[in-house]
Amino acid sequence: MKRIAVLTSGGDAPGMNAAIRAVVRTGLAKGWEVYGVEAGYSGLMNGNMRSLGARDVSGIIQQGGTMLGSARAPEFKTEEGRLRALRELNRRGIEGLVVIGGNGSQTGANALSQMGFPVVGVASTIDNDLYGSEITIGVDTALNIALEAIDRLKTTASSHQRAFMIEVMGRDCGYLALMAGIAGGAEAIVIPEREFPPEQIASELREAYERGKAHAIVVVAEGAQHNAEELEQYFKQHEERLGFDLRVTKLGHVQRGGEPGAFDRLLATRLGAGATRCLEQGQHGVLVGWNRSEVTTTPLTEVVAHKKQIDLSLLDLAVELSQ
Ligand code: ADP
Repeated sequence: MKRIAVLTSGGDAPGMNAAIRAVVRTGLAKGWEVYGVEAGYSGLMNGNMRSLGARDVSGIIQQGGTMLGSARAPEFKTEEGRLRALRELNRRGIEGLVVIGGNGSQTGANALSQMGFPVVGVASTIDNDLYGSEITIGVDTALNIALEAIDRLKTTASSHQRAFMIEVMGRDCGYLALMAGIAGGAEAIVIPEREFPPEQIASELREAYERGKAHAIVVVAEGAQHNAEELEQYFKQHEERLGFDLRVTKLGHVQRGGEPGAFDRLLATRLGAGATRCLEQGQHGVLVGWNRSEVTTTPLTEVVAHKKQIDLSLLDLAVELSQ
């Protein structure tokens, strides 16, 4: 009988639980034993893991977060840390590991795989900045949460002569801000991938009012060159000249919480099942992702060597749509 382990690592994302459930149940269906590792790589290095049965993953498909817990584990970046993890895996006779997580986590997965252990990654991050998967687990739910906030702010913005800025997650990648901005009908979108000076944002908003718009919404990614705090200060300093005030709402971790929607539950289920299928077929050192409506695999070496690009033509489209 084969014995495998599963862990969730890095930033949690709605749908991670559905992926764990799929790994556990499809693993059990193959007649394997499946261990759940607590708190990501930190639990792996400390040997904090237990065998999971079908009932242990009952009632989690609709829950956000991760039942296994997640953690940042800087020690895993060192060879000593990874050797400790390997010792724990070998001591328990574990023959394969599924890593559910984003960029950092898959970099760790690749490092472990390079040391000869069979590892399969599952693409999960709300940032959608992972090469090798068009869309990752958690993105759709996070986007819907951002949209709900934008819709509510629009209502109040229309009632006052007020501009609103909403900061969404995305340290290096503007995907969430761009998509939430387009779907939410924002007047301006500020992302790390393109410079957007404060004075230009101000003139866009002013022009929107002049065109008869009842509201002005700016969606900004947390990692933009001019972040929400800087923009808020700028607008405060120049309030009189600009003629309106700008209120900032930071969505922060609200975006990560909540129940995963149908899309994320189904995506997580298919990718989790894809991960055990890979291990069954002896395929490892790969990321299981979603491309062109199919479960796909991409070598982890390729995943970590590339930076996912967003389609900047959508930013131009957003400008046309905001007229
Ligand atoms: P995410 O997976 O959401 O991008 P992080 O970037 O925080 O999250 O990474 C999660 C964990 O992955 C880190 O705490 C660390 O244990 C591991 N990790 C990140 N980068 C590396 C690396 N270069 N080598 C080995 N492990 C890494």
